[in-house]
Amino acid sequence: MQFKEVLGNKDLALRLIRMADSSRTGHSLMFVERDGCGALPLAMAFIQYLMCRGRHEGEDSCGVCPSCRKISGMMHPDLHFAFPVNSAAGSGASKKPLSGSFMQPWRDLYKSNPYFTEADLYSGLGIDGKAGVISVAEAKEILDSLSLKSYEGYGKYMVVWLPERMNAEAANRLLKIVEEPMPDTYFIFITHAPEKVISTIRSRSQMIRLYPVPVEESVPYIALHAGVTDDEAKVYARISGGSPGLALSMATEGSAASQYLPAVTSMLDAVDRKDMVSLLEGNEALAALGREKQKDFCAYLEEFLRKVMMHREGLASIADALPSEREAVARFCPVFHDSFYRKSFNAIEEARQSIEANVNAKMIFCNLSNMLFAINNF
Ligand SMILES: [Zn+2]
Repeated sequence: MQFKEVLGNKDLALRLIRMADSSRTGHSLMFVERDGCGALPLAMAFIQYLMCRGRHEGEDSCGVCPSCRKISGMMHPDLHFAFPVNSAAGSGASKKPLSGSFMQPWRDLYKSNPYFTEADLYSGLGIDGKAGVISVAEAKEILDSLSLKSYEGYGKYMVVWLPERMNAEAANRLLKIVEEPMPDTYFIFITHAPEKVISTIRSRSQMIRLYPVPVEESVPYIALHAGVTDDEAKVYARISGGSPGLALSMATEGSAASQYLPAVTSMLDAVDRKDMVSLLEGNEALAALGREKQKDFCAYLEEFLRKVMMHREGLASIADALPSEREAVARFCPVFHDSFYRKSFNAIEEARQSIEANVNAKMIFCNLSNMLFAINNF
């Protein structure tokens, strides 16, 4: 990875280049980002610049020397990684696994999409459904790999992805080496939740905060990797809040829109046509979904109505309707009166709270559709 390939955060890249050029690189850096904003590719570009044999000072690594090639393949002997792992779903293994046993999927993930999210990692490692952890055994492994002499004499780098997934015992184990680093050892922590990282490690680290990636910069990346049009990629880039990783997973996994749009439009159609039979049938189907999906449905119903409301108010350009939703949004624009929206948001919120409180699902959806029906008619 070269700096020129990293999306966004050009100012930070420049700061890192200056830091390296002046040989003032701290022994512990903490990159802080929102999930999927590109701290890993930025860190990789930095390490590659530091270790490159033919770097263009003030600009970038050469990208072609043996060191650059080994780093871009994540195969450099002086570059180590630790990240949260768990035993594979359904394996029931009692022994906690280590990052080392997942190096191939980790590399594959990075090569296919360096902006991968925490959820992408867990599904890539086959442990989705379980939270990943950085265990004490992993901390010991980190210390062991750093106790070796640097192979190529250009320093040793340890990238710890999501140190907030370390328990206190593991973090304390690492603390000593972070506090009293060996001269050629560098830690790069990448966190999504700095407040959850043990404060002693945080206070010893130089903080590098990433900004969201500008929409225009991530559109070509999202379009290429998700196989969507620039138009669609732009919407995902915006609703992801500048996280290419989140935008990509929304675009590829199918967003809430593709899952719930049919159920939402048939509920609203039935409310509009006063068709109680269809409403009841729809409620049966919703009641059969699990609680998480019922909450997702409610969230999407609200999001959809918000988009319709914004279109009515002439704010289509910021409503971020996906191409697949536009026809439905336009169709519902003239259907409901202005006060329908605010009142229906309250009804949806009430339904959500009832789902949380484990109220019978059929009752919740009957109540919700009755309320929408009443709001529309009285
Ligand atoms: Zn190079």
